[in-house]
Amino acid sequence: MPGRTDTTEPTTGAPVTSTDTATGEAEARRASSPMYRLTNVSKTYQQKNRTVTALTNVHLTIPQGQLVAVQGPTGGGKSTLLQMLGALDRPSAGSIHLGGDRDVAKLGDGALTDLRATEIGFVFQSFNLIPTLTALENVETAFAGSLANRSRTEVRGRAVAALREVGLGERMEHLPAELSGGQQQRVAIARALVKNPSVLLADEPTGALDESTRDEIMALIEKQWRERGLTVVIVTHDSWVAKRAERRLHIKQGQVCEV
Ligand code: ADP
Ligand code: MG
Repeated sequence: MPGRTDTTEPTTGAPVTSTDTATGEAEARRASSPMYRLTNVSKTYQQKNRTVTALTNVHLTIPQGQLVAVQGPTGGGKSTLLQMLGALDRPSAGSIHLGGDRDVAKLGDGALTDLRATEIGFVFQSFNLIPTLTALENVETAFAGSLANRSRTEVRGRAVAALREVGLGERMEHLPAELSGGQQQRVAIARALVKNPSVLLADEPTGALDESTRDEIMALIEKQWRERGLTVVIVTHDSWVAKRAERRLHIKQGQVCEV
């Protein structure tokens, strides 16, 4: 299996005695401050005159730098969980601690927007690019809410670098309709990562792609995960994708369990 599991301690059950190795320090850091700590999280939605429970009493800790796959049946709560992790919405009950201190459930709208603008990158099955903007302009939209703090030159330079990093240096001036599905998803990944976030959340990122393009996109996500030390959560129906993760979760009727 690719990824950081290659560098973790052997699974002998013996306690880690050496903290002077890079591995030991990394492990200690991951253990001391998880990226996410969800305690008793529930989410309900009002649909006409009935209440739908999308998440029920979820307890979940995700260490920094982990690559997690989430599977489960349609309507099970996968996208809702991702929205909670992404501070797109607040839980109806419980707490979601991000990076040790902030409780997403208690933040106001402005603080949630700031959190998303700086810490969290999103990728979706349908790419969600703006059709009238070029690849470069689409990536620049990542800074839309915080443009006031940055110069045009900085925004352009970072967007160009992000597109080169995903292998689209030659396609920056193209519109989404002039790009293949795989290339559009690369633009979306560049848009998610140009902010230099701590977390990448992907909802069925390969769901609209053929097998060989799926493999390329997963290789790209894994490369970015490894090089940037990102925490990555991928919702997927594809067991091939899920098997590449360090950890697999299953959600059914709003309840999360380890696979
Ligand atoms: P999945 O992504 O696993 O298919 P979702 O998280 O989208 O599942 O949905 C879980 C449940 O919550 C479903 O019953 C769905 O209809 C409901 N739901 C999700 N989002 C909303 C919403 N914005 N308004 C009302 N109900 C919703
Ligand atoms: Mg969904």
